[in-house]
Amino acid sequence: MRAVITLVDLQLREEALRTSFRFSCTDCQHFEPVTRGCSFGFPTEEHRQASLHLGAALNFCKSFELG
Ligand code: SF4
Repeated sequence: MRAVITLVDLQLREEALRTSFRFSCTDCQHFEPVTRGCSFGFPTEEHRQASLHLGAALNFCKSFELG
């Protein structure tokens, strides 16, 4: 996965929750629900389990497109 890794801080967490920010594979048009895979062949497991806990490392996929 081509990704940008960002640590969750209070501002990111609050803005993501307030705006219902979508960034994980399950909200991406390249996600294939039946196989739980990515149409580009990128690994999805870590990205599907994204956490907004403070200090967590988020992987923002550069190929994400809202589905
Ligand atoms: S393009 Fe990125 S965000 Fe979309 S399904 Fe593939 S790995 Fe996930």
